Parts: sequence; C-alpha cells; structure tokens
Amino acid sequence: MKKIILAANWKMNLSLNEANDLMKAIDFVNHDNLKTMIFPSSLFLKSILDKFSDKTIIGSQNISEFENGAYTGEISAEQVKSLGITTTLIGHSERRSIFGESNNLVNLKIKRARANHLNIILCIGESLEEREQEKTYDILEAQIVEALDSISSEDFSSIIIAYEPVWAIGTGKTATAEIAQDAHAFIRKMLEKLYPGSEKTEILYGGSVKSSNIESLLAQKDIDGALIGGASLKADEFSKIIAIANQRFS
Ligand code: PEP
Repeated sequence: MKKIILAANWKMNLSLNEANDLMKAIDFVNHDNLKTMIFPSSLFLKSILDKFSDKTIIGSQNISEFENGAYTGEISAEQVKSLGITTTLIGHSERRSIFGESNNLVNLKIKRARANHLNIILCIGESLEEREQEKTYDILEAQIVEALDSISSEDFSSIIIAYEPVWAIGTGKTATAEIAQDAHAFIRKMLEKLYPGSEKTEILYGGSVKSSNIESLLAQKDIDGALIGGASLKADEFSKIIAIANQRFS
C-alpha cells in the first residue's frame, strides 16, 4: 500500500485568528502511511508551528533565492529554518505566472533550500494554452530538467513533486484521474531517468481537489497524494478529504 501526503496551501488567506480557528477545527490524521502538511502565510509560521506542530507538518509557501541581506519583503531559507520549519513549497504556478519565476529561479531556490536542509515540494504544471497546443510533456520535461539542474541524488531525495496543471488550479476544473495519472506516469519516468532508483519519489496532484474527487485521484497508481488550495480553507471539507484518504488504510 502506497503512502499518502495531503498538503494544504492556504495562499494569502486568513487572519491569524482565522488560521488558529481553522487549525483547531481540522480533524488531522497522521500515521506512518498518511502525512498531512499545512502551508500558512509566512507571517503566521512561528505562531502556528508553536501551537500545532504536534498535529501536522507546517511549511513555508515560498523562500527567497538569496541568502540574506537587502531584499525587502523577502524571507530567506535560513530564517524559515531558524523557526524550526522543515519544508517549503517552491515554484507554485502563482509564483511563476504572477511573480515571473522562471525555471532557473526555481533551481536557485531549490539550491538555497537544500543548503539550509529544507525539504521541498516542487510544483510544476502546464497552462491551458500549452495543453491545447499538445506541449504538456515538453513543458513538464523542461520544468523538471531545468529546476533540478545540478541537484544531487542526495538532495533530490528531499524533494516531493506536485503536478498542478495551471488550468485546474482554483478553477473548479479538476484534471480527470486519467489525465492526472498519465502526467504522473510521465513525470515518474523522467525522474527515474535523471535519478535512477528514484521510483519511490512522491508525486502529488494539485488542482481543484475536493472530497468528491480525492478518492478517484488516490486510486491512480502514480498519484501519491494531493496539494490542496481552496478546499483546505474549509475545515469540514479538508477533514473529509483526510478521512477519505485514511479509509484506504482500513
Ligand atoms: C494550489 O494552490 O496549489 C491548488 C491546487 O489550489 P486549488 O486546490 O484551489 O485548485
């Protein structure tokens, strides 16, 4: 039975009180085969970590590619690590499309995160236009190869991949389980070519995951969990997703 990871990306949502209330209301389940993670606003990382680290893994949504210094508004991997945070997202499609992050920049961030021993969820995925032009696999290949340029096998073993087709993020349009599985199988094959023996790399699906589709997604051979945005902001819905995932182990 494969292990499952359910990661919640809260993006730039919730006040501190709302974040605390949501953490209290979620029915977290964690065991050897099921891991949950929450990525709150970086403003609340310390406070959420101090109160809820026994319930789940708390991670950062982003880090700077720079070490430290005159980079107003940025947060460094070293600062994130100094809080006791162990994990960061890198290359989310909103970072790529709104803030212009290139594959090269994503690569620098991965190096910075690993220099500080942070685990990484590396997000990749094609836009609607790219899918319609049948460029999906070329785009995924470029995102993987360029983001992982000069990343050692040892550092790669601390990286989880999240496949998030951009057209499915926050749109209510989920990739069918078959579309997602095809992309995951392609990604796994590519990773095995780059890092022989890496067939156990966790590959999460992201894009309008909810309680009504999580079961069919998790049933796919190469889908090891989900990165969840909108549905993770509702305690009932996220708890339901966790419960459905946990049923796979009963
Ligand atoms: C995300 O932010 O990574 C995401 C997948 O969002 P949503 O679940 O809302 O599509």
